[in-house]
Amino acid sequence: MKIAIISDIHANLEALTAVLEDIEKKEDVKDIICLGDIVGYGANPNECVEIIKNRCSKVVLGNHDAAGLGLISLEYFNIYARAAAIWTQNQLTEESRKYLKNLEYVNYLDEKERIMMVHSSPLFPENWNYILNNDDAKTAFYKITEEIACFIGHSHQPIIFSKDISDSVNMHPPKDFTFDENKRYFINVGSVGQPRDGIKDSSYVIFDLDKLMVFFQRVPYDVEQAAQKIRDAELSDVLADRLLFGR
Ligand code: ZN
Repeated sequence: MKIAIISDIHANLEALTAVLEDIEKKEDVKDIICLGDIVGYGANPNECVEIIKNRCSKVVLGNHDAAGLGLISLEYFNIYARAAAIWTQNQLTEESRKYLKNLEYVNYLDEKERIMMVHSSPLFPENWNYILNNDDAKTAFYKITEEIACFIGHSHQPIIFSKDISDSVNMHPPKDFTFDENKRYFINVGSVGQPRDGIKDSSYVIFDLDKLMVFFQRVPYDVEQAAQKIRDAELSDVLADRLLFGR
């Protein structure tokens, strides 16, 4: 069985729609799961919440979802993220808020609980730490014991970290691969709605739960329209422009 794993939609309806159309075209994809940050930065928070609610079987909470609900301090957000979070707080309907409020920090893709899903890091997920380098990964791997892998988002950069039997941690570029069950993995699926790896196309992953294979995907979408909506909503132009560059 194949599962599509999406993350960091950030209220970008154009990107989310394009990714869902791409998933429709794939054979054998039975399910879609989402690693959080449905809202924040973009112009269509309620529309994106509604779609995720209807299409995804499992969803975990992201820091921008928590910020949109007013549940976390905005002091660590940069000025653009902070302004967007306040804008989002004012936009979210009661229905969207109710849905986001019920999301958990951590969940599992499979019944045996060998494949974990979390927005930022399995180690103190409520602290929203990033896993950006081998040291970050090494620390976070302490929480991955019985599990083989943990799918994450948050940095908006698709990447793989592996830990082998001798405890050495390595970073790998986002290339399709098959799990070695003697190793442990963090797989960052990248961002649907605000990629930051220099490629403006949406990023997501197809995961084959039976064969334990990961396939990285990129999907072009109407970036200009998403950017224009951000400008029209009087969110920051910086947030519109970064979509054009994937930064
Ligand atoms: Zn995010």
